[in-house]
Amino acid sequence: LDPETFAAESREVVDFLDGYYRNVERYPVRSDVEPGRLRALLPKAAPKNGEPMDAILEDVQRHIVPGLTHWQSPNFFAYYPGNASTAGFAGEMLSAGLNVVPFTWAASPAATELEGIVVDWMAKLVGLPERFLFSGGGGGVLHGSTCEAVVCTLAAARDRALSRLDGHEGILRLVVYASDQSHSTFQKGARIVGIPPSNFRVIPTSVASGYGLTGDGVRDAVEADIASGLVPLYLCATVGTTGLGAVDSVRDLGEVARCYRMWLHVDAAYGGSALICPEFKDCFDGIEFADSVSMNPHKWFLTNMDCCCLWVASPAALTSALSSNPEYLNNVTEKSATEVVDYKDWQMALSRPFRAMKLWVVLRRYGAVGMRAYIRRHVDMARWFEQQLEGDERFEVVVPRRFSLVTFRLRPRHKGDDAAEALSRKVLMAINSSGRAFMTHFIVDNKFVIRMAVGGAMTEMRHVRDAWELVQEKTREVGIPLGV
Ligand code: PLP
Repeated sequence: LDPETFAAESREVVDFLDGYYRNVERYPVRSDVEPGRLRALLPKAAPKNGEPMDAILEDVQRHIVPGLTHWQSPNFFAYYPGNASTAGFAGEMLSAGLNVVPFTWAASPAATELEGIVVDWMAKLVGLPERFLFSGGGGGVLHGSTCEAVVCTLAAARDRALSRLDGHEGILRLVVYASDQSHSTFQKGARIVGIPPSNFRVIPTSVASGYGLTGDGVRDAVEADIASGLVPLYLCATVGTTGLGAVDSVRDLGEVARCYRMWLHVDAAYGGSALICPEFKDCFDGIEFADSVSMNPHKWFLTNMDCCCLWVASPAALTSALSSNPEYLNNVTEKSATEVVDYKDWQMALSRPFRAMKLWVVLRRYGAVGMRAYIRRHVDMARWFEQQLEGDERFEVVVPRRFSLVTFRLRPRHKGDDAAEALSRKVLMAINSSGRAFMTHFIVDNKFVIRMAVGGAMTEMRHVRDAWELVQEKTREVGIPLGV
C-alpha cells in the first residue's frame, strides 16, 4: 500500500460509487444478460503489467455494471433486502483499511472487544434476555452468514448430545427438526455435521397458523422418533421465514425443546431487525428457552454485506465443538484463556474480518431511534401496498403481512383455478422483464405467490407507488383489466 497514492485512488472509487448511487434507479433492476457474457468480454489471462485505477473503473462501468442485478436500486423488492448505507460503507472502509484479523484476542484486542460490545448492544436492542449477554454468561459473535452460524450451532448441539450418548455411533440416532418453511440451511447444515439425511424431519405448517410452526406437530414427530430409539437433537424456530415472513411460536417450540432436551435455535435472519421496535417484541415471546439466536444486520439493518449476529447461551458448548489450539495461535500475552474471547473458537474459519467496525458505525450513526424509524418506514410502505391489494378484487394477499414482506397472487375464480396460477406467473415475469422493479416468488400449498419485500435503503414511498402501478399495468396486460 502506497500512502502517496492511497487517498487519490480511493477517492476515485468513492466518486465512481457516488455516480453509481445517483444513477442506480435508472438501471434495469434485474440484469438480463446472457450467461457467459463477461468471459467473452474480458481478457483470457491477468494483465502482464499493472493498470491505472481509472482504466479499471471504466471497465467496471462498461462490463460489470450491465451484468449486475442492482440490489441497491430503490425498486429492488426481491428475496430479502441486502442493505447498504453510508455508515455501513464507512465501517466497511475502516475495516478494509485497517485490515486486522481478530481470530484471537491478542491478534487484535480492540477488534475482538468491539465485537463483544456490539453483539451485546444488538442483543439488548432486539430484546434478548441477559443469558445471551457476556455479562449473563452467554455471548455473541459476528459471522458472515446465517448458514455458517447454523452449522456452528448444529456442531455444538451434536457434541453436547454425543457426550450423553455412548460413543460416536450415537450420531446415527440424532434427529433435527424444522418446518416446511425453515430455511434450507438447516438441512444442509445437518448434513455437514454428520446427521444422517434420513434423520432430518420437515414438519408441515398450514394456513391456519399463518405457516408458523407450533409445538403439536413437533411433539408428535419427536414422540415417534423416541419410540423408534432415536434421539431428538435440535429444533429450529424461525421469526420471519424466507418465503412468507411467517413467525413460529417460539414459546411453544421452546417448551417442546426443553421437555425433550433439544437445542433450540431461533433464526431471525430477516425478522430480527424489526424486533428493535417494541410493537414486534411479541415475536420473541419465549426466547428465554433458546440455546442460540441469529439475525442478519446485512439484510434489513443498514449494514453492508456481510454480517450475521449469533448469540449463544452457553459459549462453552460452542467452543468445545469448534476450538483448536495450535501453538502458533496461542495468545501471546499473560491473559489466561478464560479472561479473553478468541473468536476463532466461535466459528469454522480461522481468519476473519473486522466486522464489528461496520455494525458499530451503523449503530452510532443511526442510534436506536434512527434504526426504529428506518424499520417503521418500510413497514408502513409495505402496509400501504398490502392495502392496495386488499382493495382490488383481482388480487389476494396470501399470508397477512407481519413485517415488510407482502405476499400476493391473482385471486382464483374457483378452487384449483389454473388460469389464475399461470397468470400470476406471467404478471411476475412481465414485472421483472420491464426492468422497473424486481420481485421474486414462492410456492406454498401448490400456490404461486409473488413476494414484494420492501426494505431497500433508498426505497421511498414513490417507488412503492410505482411498483403498485406496475403490478396493475402488467395485470391489465395479461388480460385482467378491472380493479375495484
Ligand atoms: N434464514 C432466513 C430466515 C433467511 O431468510 C435467510 C436468507 O434469506 C437465511 C437464513 C440465510 O441467510 P444467509 O444468506 O446469511 O446465510
